[in-house]
Amino acid sequence: MYFVEKEDRSFAVKPMNCPGACIVYRTAMRSYKELPLRLAEFGMVHRYELSGVLHGLFRVRGFVQDDAHVYCTPDQIEAEVIDCLDMLEKVYKVLGFGVPEIKLSTRPPDRMGSDEIWDKAEGALAGALRNWGKSYREAPQEGNFYGPKLDFDLTDSLGRKWQCGTIQLDFQMPERFGLEYVGKDSGRHRPVMIHRAILGSLDRMIGVLVEHYAGKFPVWLAPTQALLLPVTDKTLPYAKDVEARMRAVGLRVDVDERNEKIGAKIRDGIGRRIPYLLVVGEREAAAGTLSVRPRDGEDRGALPAAEVIEDIRKRHASRALDL
Ligand SMILES: [Zn+2]
Repeated sequence: MYFVEKEDRSFAVKPMNCPGACIVYRTAMRSYKELPLRLAEFGMVHRYELSGVLHGLFRVRGFVQDDAHVYCTPDQIEAEVIDCLDMLEKVYKVLGFGVPEIKLSTRPPDRMGSDEIWDKAEGALAGALRNWGKSYREAPQEGNFYGPKLDFDLTDSLGRKWQCGTIQLDFQMPERFGLEYVGKDSGRHRPVMIHRAILGSLDRMIGVLVEHYAGKFPVWLAPTQALLLPVTDKTLPYAKDVEARMRAVGLRVDVDERNEKIGAKIRDGIGRRIPYLLVVGEREAAAGTLSVRPRDGEDRGALPAAEVIEDIRKRHASRALDL
């Protein structure tokens, strides 16, 4: 952790979001009617990793997690986990990954919580996976001392595996933070806590995506989706006009305004792996067209600008994975 002393007080920069979620839970007396209570947070965390293990976007000292904490009764675990699994599948599919490899880690020899609650928790995770209908591998005794967990490995385009998402049950933190809810019986009970992250670290996921696509992002993920290349200064106003029209429909587009030969501009655009290079010569400017060079395909020649813009917009909106 990172610590700092100010005015005789010690502060620390948070390395995880979970305690914050517990404090939010504790701001009110909770009833069973409020459960499951789901708190989500894109939380920035800092961890003092040794300099020797820092590695690109994969291991950094400050990153953002797509974190969520679900507080529920033991009976609600299975349904909550199925919801998390559905969300996970949806997100990975949109990003262009296949079904992740799933690992279920069960009770270690040293653990907290009764066997009864472990039976229930492991049963709920296994039940959720069975209901979800995907195969998984069991890792006996590899669970956390505070609860069993599911881990998800993504395989990228080169067959490398990356651990991203996680769903962890936790019996300990609710106890440490004294979390309670009033049950149907009017008695006080302890909720179970589910930690879940789908992308894991956003920074790391961006690194995985860069590797997975080798920088050739689908249109909807590309930082610059199209680049307008005016052949001469004369066609710059037309290029600027098209740029404004594309931005107006939500596309990320730039104009290469440099005083370079068109061949050099095209080469640079290809090097930047931009999905669409749109060449604008005097003929295109006069006819209201664009000469389209998709990143991985045939030169499409001059097409009406409105048609080109609509085609790119549709791919962007539908999150198409092919170009
Ligand atoms: Zn957590």
